Amino acid sequence: MADLVRGQRARTVPVTAPDAPGHDRPEPDAFTLAYWEAAAEGRLLLRRCGACGLAHHYPREFCPHCWSEDVGWERASGLATLYTWSVVHRNDLPPFKGRTPYVAAVVDLAEGPRMMTEVVGAADGDLRAGAELRVTFREGVPVFVMRAGDG
Ligand SMILES: [Zn+2]
Repeated sequence: MADLVRGQRARTVPVTAPDAPGHDRPEPDAFTLAYWEAAAEGRLLLRRCGACGLAHHYPREFCPHCWSEDVGWERASGLATLYTWSVVHRNDLPPFKGRTPYVAAVVDLAEGPRMMTEVVGAADGDLRAGAELRVTFREGVPVFVMRAGDG
């Protein structure tokens, strides 16, 4: 009986192996591959609609404003302002656990779309609604820093 129990335990798949991939990276598919390849090269891409002219983010194959499928990629300026944020002190999922405390944020991109991201390198006192930010990349993932000269 003890052997049977041990055998069952041996087949148990751990929820998170020590070298499990992080939970902060989506797996690119055929559509989002262009976005992640550009991010890996330090470029933030947006989607802009050829019918109504509005940009959107996250990337979709149709325009969320007018439903047109006449939508293409363009490079974003990388400039944004801080809309809101939350300082996260507890997150047990890798790789977030090693980053706490970190600043989960929603930013307004200069081109219009609102984006969920992270603000890095900012002191608590620097964070305020409307703070000027610019994009940077951490291992191919866009995050934001305070713009030099701001505040
Ligand atoms: Zn549109």
